[in-house]
Amino acid sequence: MIESNLEVSHVWFFLPSYPLGQTVLDDLLISLGQDRTLWAPQAEPDGLCRLQPVSEGQLPNLALSTFLPLKKLLLPPREAVWTHVAGQFSAIEVPAPFAVVGVPLCDLQAIWYLDQVFADDESYRARRAQSLLVGMSCEPGADCRCDAQLMPVAGDVFIGQERVWAISSIGDALLRETGFSASVSDVPLPWPEGTAEKRQNLSEEQFYSALDASIWAEEGKRCLSCGACSIVCPTCYCFDMQDEAAVDGTVTRHRVWDNCFFAEHGEVAGGHDFRPDRAARLRFRMEHKFFGFGALRGQNSCVGCDRCRKICPVDVDLDRIAERLIEEAAS
Ligand code: SF4
Ligand code: SF4
Repeated sequence: MIESNLEVSHVWFFLPSYPLGQTVLDDLLISLGQDRTLWAPQAEPDGLCRLQPVSEGQLPNLALSTFLPLKKLLLPPREAVWTHVAGQFSAIEVPAPFAVVGVPLCDLQAIWYLDQVFADDESYRARRAQSLLVGMSCEPGADCRCDAQLMPVAGDVFIGQERVWAISSIGDALLRETGFSASVSDVPLPWPEGTAEKRQNLSEEQFYSALDASIWAEEGKRCLSCGACSIVCPTCYCFDMQDEAAVDGTVTRHRVWDNCFFAEHGEVAGGHDFRPDRAARLRFRMEHKFFGFGALRGQNSCVGCDRCRKICPVDVDLDRIAERLIEEAAS
């Protein structure tokens, strides 16, 4: 039985928090690495920031937004979700415990979203249960659009400039064991200021009444369908299942990342394609991102991290599309 730290605090702002002293912070960072592999964002010579395995001495003081999001540690691009051999299903491969230190608040929201999507997924839960996520304050970029009100944060501990917050009970136990004491729960998490105001509040009504708007064809014509925006998005999770049967009868099911911009994504048996052109794929991504599906219907999952805008080679911007749809609805 895998112990889970998948609990979610629905108290968005009023988590237990402790005054931050340098000595206990140092002790906390040392204790994080005792039984776990440490990962942290590292700025690299090519100008990109990536998560890398690090030693305690390389841990950051501030969160950094990585080019590829943390989801890649929890949802690998290709993973075996089960193997059937000699009449038995093999046990899921459980990764060694690891901690990710220096996660920005928007990415902690993204993990909360994935926790909901994969709440019943054994493989995701196994990876997630082995993870300890430590958020840190960040310096928001000019185009960051994070919003404290969007959804709760997941994770275990958040280190601010003057306080440290316990996000999960595992995080709280860790803080207490390390020597943090005298918790208070009325200090909100330190969200960046001025970022939420940059978001576009496109309503479902405005979106669905603009399904034939000319902007889809205009932006779709520029889109290369490369899928980069979806790959770097911390809340995109489309996947495909691929079964492989070996000559000895072993069958392995792999989960492999898919991408709603790819031509085959909307194709079904018989050759019908629900989204045969780029305009339809772009509109579909926006619908999924802003309005959710299934149990998460109505939940905007764009945490405002700005990765998609930075990566897009032709400057497609969902918020700019939303802005225009809002303007056209008002005219
Ligand atoms: S800004 Fe782009 S990459 Fe970031 S969460 Fe929103 S849609 Fe995804
Ligand atoms: S990154 Fe830009 S060009 Fe590539 S699929 Fe996304 S919107 Fe299209």
